[in-house]
Amino acid sequence: METEQNRQPIFFGPNIRALILLAAVAVGAYWYHVNFQKGPCEAPIEYHIDQFDVSFGVSRESFLSAVAEAEAMWENEPIDSAQGKKGKDLFRFSDSGGLAINLIFDDRQKITIRNTILSDEIDKNSKVAESVKAEFLALKEQYAAAVSAYNRRIDEYKALLSSHNEKVRSANRRGGAKESEYQTLAGERDRLAALSASIETDRGNVNALAGQISALVKKYNLIAEGINSEVGIVNQNAREKFDAGEYVRDEAGERINIYQFEGRDKMIRVLAHELGHALGLEHVADTKSVMYEMNSGTGEKLGEDDITALQELCDAK
Ligand SMILES: [Zn+2]
Repeated sequence: METEQNRQPIFFGPNIRALILLAAVAVGAYWYHVNFQKGPCEAPIEYHIDQFDVSFGVSRESFLSAVAEAEAMWENEPIDSAQGKKGKDLFRFSDSGGLAINLIFDDRQKITIRNTILSDEIDKNSKVAESVKAEFLALKEQYAAAVSAYNRRIDEYKALLSSHNEKVRSANRRGGAKESEYQTLAGERDRLAALSASIETDRGNVNALAGQISALVKKYNLIAEGINSEVGIVNQNAREKFDAGEYVRDEAGERINIYQFEGRDKMIRVLAHELGHALGLEHVADTKSVMYEMNSGTGEKLGEDDITALQELCDAK
């Protein structure tokens, strides 16, 4: 079973989603159990835990219970038999069991752990970027409204000023304004000056908003740059596919090696996949199935292709 992890870089858009794939390839001799003298499904395959590396951060007890859950995925599935439909006892834990299950820690899991930490960091920073973006969008709206109000006031001011200037010119043509007219015009002139000062304050506020917006864009781009560089590291770490697990049968015996998983669910699924190979099953086409070549499915249930393959295997004696 192989694995490949990948994250897409982003540019001005905080929608980062991890694209994590666990791939699987057939390893080992599947024909073994098919040709086993007792036939598949006749007697449970006995397994034991052999190599167990604590560096995974999983206790032996927890690992054993994960194996039991993987086992149950196959055993809980009712199979047609002479006695009707019922689950089969396909695996059994035994200290002297012939199938060894090994948990082997190396660079594969090291990279996975590092990528998990980086992915958490990416998710955290993406949330920050998201909130900066929301702040930016709100301010942008506020800015647009302020600009349009400012322009409206400018137009009003220009109209008032032009009418005032026309009155002044008209008075001048008549050789000057009378006292009362002069007072009116002077009052108008003062109100226009006050209006102009108030509009100038508006202009300052609009410019301050523009400054805030540009600072937010700068902040956002800085966060996005950081995220992209983290995404780059994750992708660099995970460019190559590698075995997450394998089932091997050779002169040294029969064994399942588990090298890599991300979280308990994937651990159970990679175990179930390799147990499937131990039964004699090959890969299936359904991407949600346990026996699909990549561990792209989720959940604790077999896929339809798994069930069909198991039933065919157990019926073919
Ligand atoms: Zn496989």
